[in-house]
This record gives sequence, C-alpha cells and structure tokens, in this order.
Amino acid sequence: MSSPSRYRGRFAPSPTGPLHRGSLVTALASWLDARAHNGVWIVRMEDLDEPRCVPGAAQDILDTLHRLGLHSDEPVVWQSRRHAHYERALVSLTARGLVYPCGCTRREIADSLTRVHARHSTLAYPGTCRDGLHGKTARAWRLRVPDGDAALMRFQDRWKGPQTQNLATEVGDFVLKRADGQWAYQLAVVVDDQLQGITDIVRGADLLDSTARQIYLQTCLDAPAPRYLHVPLVMADDGEKLSKQNGAAPLSLDTPTAVLAALKNAAAHLGLPATLADIADRDRFYAAATQAWRERHGH
Ligand code: GLU
Repeated sequence: MSSPSRYRGRFAPSPTGPLHRGSLVTALASWLDARAHNGVWIVRMEDLDEPRCVPGAAQDILDTLHRLGLHSDEPVVWQSRRHAHYERALVSLTARGLVYPCGCTRREIADSLTRVHARHSTLAYPGTCRDGLHGKTARAWRLRVPDGDAALMRFQDRWKGPQTQNLATEVGDFVLKRADGQWAYQLAVVVDDQLQGITDIVRGADLLDSTARQIYLQTCLDAPAPRYLHVPLVMADDGEKLSKQNGAAPLSLDTPTAVLAALKNAAAHLGLPATLADIADRDRFYAAATQAWRERHGH
C-alpha cells in the first residue's frame, strides 16, 4: 500500500482548444515532476465552463497526450460529471457562515470601485452584499475572506519563491458560483485537488495569482495544503500568454521526429539542459529529462 503522502500530481487542461506549445510546457513539467518523485500523474479535464468549452477539444487533447506518450496513471477525471461534489462543498461552506449571495452586476462593482478607489489598490470586490442583498436578487455566491492580518496569505512556490497576497485588499470576497449558474474555477479546483489527494500542483504562472485564494479555500474546507510550482508562461508575439485567441497553433505531431522536436522545445523553455536536444529517441529523452528535472526540482 502506498503511504498517504505519496506524490500525486495532475495536469488539468481546459478544453477550450487543442493543446499548443504553451500547454505542452505545463503538461510536460507536471509529468516530469511526478516521475521525478516516483509519483502518480493524473489528467483532469476542466470542462466545467460550458460557454468556453469547444466541442471535440477534450478528446483532441487526450489524443495529443497519447501521441506524446503522456498517459494518465488513473482514469481521466471530468469536472462536468462532478457537480454533486461542488454542491456539497458550497453547502458546507454556507453552513459555516462563510458564503453569501451577491446581487451585484459587473457594472455596479466597477462603479463602486471607482467611488472607493482610494481604499482599494486593485479591483477587489468591495463587499457590497456582505451584510445583505439590499433588495437585489441573488446572482452569484461569494466566499467571505478574512480582514486584517488574517487576510495576508503567504506561501512558498517551488519555482518562483516566497509569495504574499492580501486577500482583503487585492481580491476581496470571491465568487464560488457564478451568476450564470456555473461553478467557479476556484471552487472546483480546490474540491477536486482535495478529493483526488493531490499533493503537488505544477501549472502555468498565470495561476500564481489564484493560489492564495485556493489556499484560503483549502483551510475553509479542512483540505491539506499541496505544494505549488508555477512554470514560466510561453508568451505570444503580442506579449500576452500564448493561447488560441492570439494565434497559438495546435501542435503538429505527425511523425516521431515532430513529437521529439515539440518535447525538446518544451524542455528548453523549462530550462532543462541543452544536451537533451541531441537525444534521438522519445523514451531516452523522457528518462534524461526526468533525471535533469530531479536534479533541479527534487525535494
Ligand atoms: N484548467 C486550468 C487551465 O487550463 C488549469 C487549472 C490548474 O492547473 O489549477 O488553465
């Protein structure tokens, strides 16, 4: 039997389009970290955000991972089949007085932020509905974040080092269930990481900013805190994170040579040694890349 602390990692793509060279970097990093720790690597399809999911994209991502030889060690988890878990978490947080309904529209939030601008350095929700709906209709459900010193969240990122975020002034009470009835990413990711026993989260640096929220939510749900490692993003020519909206091409993996070239590209982005470029065989590449990753990020 495996010990309770055995490494369990995951790759959690949103099926909004095919895998591209940016998402391959995240997939490879999470897989290498799991292998370097003799751990388990699980694919979780984050297909909750119905308006953003593209038909066929989930299967396309799974086919691409298969072609790359990156196989989930356990059956793929589909968030769209897990509504009951998110509902249960919301009910338990509500019973503890941590959740309240919010009737604000985006417009009202923006307007009130303009009025109280001096008190809020960024676009934190100003807490308008904290003490009641003021006659408005409930739209979204928000988690109450702590005030004062308790709002200061600190964590160690294995790539980026020490991080600090003040949940009250930089984020505010955040949404767990959206006005369109969809579960918020923050809730689903924390519930799933807890239920799947994830010990290590390796993902793109765009999610560094969500991590303090997730750590706070973990404490509210009595979930253990995973370790975090956020890898540098692949940027597009316009300076934004590479995505299909700004021209990321799907990976072309028609031949073993093309597969190896894509993997080498991702490894170079992750700062792995240039000698990996000389390897002509996928399995040997994975073995050498795992060893190199272990030397840099083993713990
Ligand atoms: N589904 C998210 C994305 O594709 C990743 C979530 C996570 O790794 O926490 O950006």
